[in-house]
Amino acid sequence: MYYYGLDWTYVVLVLPCLLLSLLASANVNSTFKKYSTQLSIRRITGADAARRVLSANGVSGVRIEPIRGNLTDHFDPRSNVIRLSENVYGSTSIAAIGVACHEAGHAVQYAREYVPMKVRAAIIPVTNFGSRLAMPLILLGLVFSTMSYFGDTLVYLGIACFGLSVVFQLVTLPVEFNASRRAVQTIDSAGLLTEEEQRGAKKTLRAAAMTYVAATAVALSQLLRLLVIFGGNRRRRD
Ligand SMILES: [Zn+2]
Repeated sequence: MYYYGLDWTYVVLVLPCLLLSLLASANVNSTFKKYSTQLSIRRITGADAARRVLSANGVSGVRIEPIRGNLTDHFDPRSNVIRLSENVYGSTSIAAIGVACHEAGHAVQYAREYVPMKVRAAIIPVTNFGSRLAMPLILLGLVFSTMSYFGDTLVYLGIACFGLSVVFQLVTLPVEFNASRRAVQTIDSAGLLTEEEQRGAKKTLRAAAMTYVAATAVALSQLLRLLVIFGGNRRRRD
């Protein structure tokens, strides 16, 4: 069972992406920290900024609430609520305004029925199911592979299930990039931040987006690794 071993496919394919992902999350933390100490001149709080994004886009009926924790900010479409962390909700920092406007961007997406967001919501149950089933199917396939080609079928089914989680990561990317684009548009058009401050907000949002890119790279590299390992396995036997 060499799948769990540290073979070359892990070192060459997965490890660099895992390192990228670690760097991305360290970067988002340090960037957020840096710009959360820089207060905006116009003294608008995160919660106010989110409200401004909603009204600038003609969206109503969305609640904005504080939530505990650090970088726990999110938009919940089920209850149509934007939850902003303690360092964002009442803060007038450049980072707070960037993050709050990004979450409001998600609320605008929801109100406008932005297609990638709908696709993402629709595939969540399938991808959750798929990612839970992937490894058991592959392992079961390996057990059976010595006996019959039924094992190969199970392995490929498992890889296909893993592929579903990669699709989920890929669909998440346009949703995240688009929310930031909407955020930056309102920050600019409503004059929430000065030009100099906008650069900091953009850096914060770009750092956050990089964590999603890195997560996608990790998932893709893991899928590629499975294909290399089991594609090669199949060829040897034929
Ligand atoms: Zn987001």
